[in-house]
Amino acid sequence: MEKKELLYEGKAKKVYTTEDPDVLIVSYKDDATAFNGLKKGTIVGKGAINNRMTNYIFKKLEEKGVPTHYIEELNDRETAVKKVEIVPLEVIIRNFSAGSFAKKMGMEEGVQFKCPTLEFSYKNDDLGDPFINKYYALALDLATEEEIDAITRYAFQVNEVMKEYFASLNIELIDFKIEFGRYHGQIILADEVSPDTCRLWDKDTHEKLDKDRFRRDLGNVEDAYQEVFRRLGIDK
Ligand code: ADP
Ligand code: UDP
Repeated sequence: MEKKELLYEGKAKKVYTTEDPDVLIVSYKDDATAFNGLKKGTIVGKGAINNRMTNYIFKKLEEKGVPTHYIEELNDRETAVKKVEIVPLEVIIRNFSAGSFAKKMGMEEGVQFKCPTLEFSYKNDDLGDPFINKYYALALDLATEEEIDAITRYAFQVNEVMKEYFASLNIELIDFKIEFGRYHGQIILADEVSPDTCRLWDKDTHEKLDKDRFRRDLGNVEDAYQEVFRRLGIDK
């Protein structure tokens, strides 16, 4: 599988076309951004960790019945994926209060919810990914009701699988963001699942093992990504 043309360069990944119109190659970068691109930096080794972690988890999710874009890991940083039409919704699931939720609700971080929550942001950098609900998404024709229902169902299923899996690594899954796409009429999970897109806390110490270390200048950013990768045991 060979890269043909650069289709898109995002903040964390480059996306290339291939000979096959249904297949793209994503290439994960070490670049890190936060606050809608305002803060920029590099997290050495992040690209390879996020690539390999995403693929590992996507394979687990496939086994549990969640369809994903994963086709084949080509090397440390690059993966062949099914080309989808991304549904412009950032789907956020939360198990504990943190980040924008804690701020908005005037709560401390780390409070466990009675049940998981789901929210949507409209994926639009110019607008700063505003919070929207299902009715906005329908009114703006971002997705059909059937698609939103499938996305909601899969998102909670992803949460159950990941929550249980991270718990086995002594990691609390606080919250995460996922994206879905349309592939030949079906909704499938796309993009990535990594310390860039999840909040992951050590269960005992509550140490943050995710991008909040970069966002909040907490130090040991590379170590945190490597610690998650080490616990996944992918190399074994
Ligand atoms: P951003 O666009 O937010 O800067 P990235 O740097 O991660 O994010 O760029 C990757 C882009 O590729 C994202 O816009 C994402 O929605 C998109 N994408 C992810 N998976 C697929 C896929 N299977 N097919 C098409 N586009 C995808
Ligand atoms: N998230 C993400 N991309 C975004 C916004 C959020 O991956 O553009 C993830 C973030 O890492 C966290 C979850 O979604 O795991 C919830 O983020 P929140 O809404 O609390 O926003 P933040 O505090 O990151 O601004």
